[in-house]
Amino acid sequence: MAHSKDLLVLENFIGGKFVPCSSYIDSYNPSTGDVYCRVPDSGKEEVEAAVRAAQDAFPVWSSRSPLERSQILNKLADLIEHDLEAFATAESKDQGKTITFARTVDIPRAVYNFRFFASSILHHVTECTEMATMGCVHYTSRAPVGVAGLISPWNLPLYLLTWKIAPAIACGNTVVAKPSEMTSVTAWMMCKLLEKAGVPHGVVNVVFGTGAKAGEALVCHPDVPLISFTGSTLTAQRITEKSAPHCKKLSLELGGKNPAIIFNDADLSQCIPTTLKSSFANQGEICLCTSRIFVQRGIYSEFLKRFVAEAKKWKAGNPSDPTVSVGALISKEHLEKVRSYVKRAQAEGARVLCGEGVDSLDLPPGNKKGYFMLPTVIAEVKDESCCMQEEIFGPVTCVVAFDTEEEVIKRANSVKYGLAATVWSSNVGCVHRVARRLQSGLVWTNCWLIRDLNLPFGGMKASGIGREGAKDSYEFFTEVKTITIKH
Ligand code: NAD
Repeated sequence: MAHSKDLLVLENFIGGKFVPCSSYIDSYNPSTGDVYCRVPDSGKEEVEAAVRAAQDAFPVWSSRSPLERSQILNKLADLIEHDLEAFATAESKDQGKTITFARTVDIPRAVYNFRFFASSILHHVTECTEMATMGCVHYTSRAPVGVAGLISPWNLPLYLLTWKIAPAIACGNTVVAKPSEMTSVTAWMMCKLLEKAGVPHGVVNVVFGTGAKAGEALVCHPDVPLISFTGSTLTAQRITEKSAPHCKKLSLELGGKNPAIIFNDADLSQCIPTTLKSSFANQGEICLCTSRIFVQRGIYSEFLKRFVAEAKKWKAGNPSDPTVSVGALISKEHLEKVRSYVKRAQAEGARVLCGEGVDSLDLPPGNKKGYFMLPTVIAEVKDESCCMQEEIFGPVTCVVAFDTEEEVIKRANSVKYGLAATVWSSNVGCVHRVARRLQSGLVWTNCWLIRDLNLPFGGMKASGIGREGAKDSYEFFTEVKTITIKH
């Protein structure tokens, strides 16, 4: 393993101060395979200090008006936006994604998360009913919960972390956040801006480290009544078990095995480029990525031919090269795992039409040890195959044929997940019928990944519990009380 002389060394951010840790974890640049950063390997002690700092900050922060909190969130958004290029470069180096993706998706969305919740917190109203015959008025009052524990994954690091921090602090909570140990740098960079934005010490604390040590210490801490988690279904099961003795409030945003359903009357000129993006954007490392493409028999051959021809045009390589659309996968282990799915599909008799094992990677010298893989399309896969059932979370998508609407709904629903789906048809009746019957928290018809943050986001079945969005996050990050006044 190559160690650079100029290792970046991160520190925890507790009570408004950067605090060194007694031990550290190596963090790799996925596009070169080199260790370039050391991340605190925090445990119970560091989590304890962060929870105390968050508790101390809670009385003052929770009593600030929504407008005051909103102004601070807006200021933080401005500061991140001012440093957008530095954040995008860091996110790309840390995660492997292309700088173009970080510059156009990750960091703008992190900025928007703060702006969005800065605005939405000003517009909530609580409920009120009158019971005239009893001489009563009932109303609800909402208050922040306390210290929120926020745990985020490595695929969209700052984007998903700020999707939790922004609503949590907008509602008046204080937080202890734990980003993924594999992608901690942009969270650390954000901490450097908090004071300038006017975020009081202790309102946002960030503890870096592994899930098993730092994450679990946070989940098990008795003074953290709420956990918002985004990550894998397996980890969510563990978090649910560990938090059960404390009856914590949980929001769980988990994995997916998302179908795209493409009917004979779909507009392929829109559908093909969008389905390429939905399959391979961010190296297929988005929970919302398509990984099962059901194409109606009448257009199956044409779709497959055009889709594969376009997939072959996606170039993998140095993430800072603007002509590259496929960056590196997060880690060597993850790359091996994703590749193993392709091998298993081949062993089961499926056909790999492009990418892994078919086309050769042409990497620049500096990226030869990086964790790259080409967009891979697999056809003739059985529905019960692991490639059609399990989340692969890489640039691999399966294409299969179907005949009828009834059949495809059944097949699309026949997985344990239920996060996102796309439906392609020019028949409005068909898209409504199918969208209603899909077991999926989100359904995009004739598009993908267009989000209005006002509306609920989250999954069904093994894809999650709870929803996040303007109203949903407000409800999650506050406790409601019903008060009755009798005159
Ligand atoms: P992961 O579950 O391995 O880790 C997520 C986070 O949980 C990390 O910060 C990790 O350190 C922490 N963690 C791990 N074990 C823990 C434990 N025992 N206690 C507390 N924390 C623990 O997931 P990942 O590999 O980082 O991310 C990929 C997964 O995230 C995929 O399944 C993907 O679909 C999912 N994801 C879901 C959404 C969504 O919104 N539904 C969004 C992005 C990613």
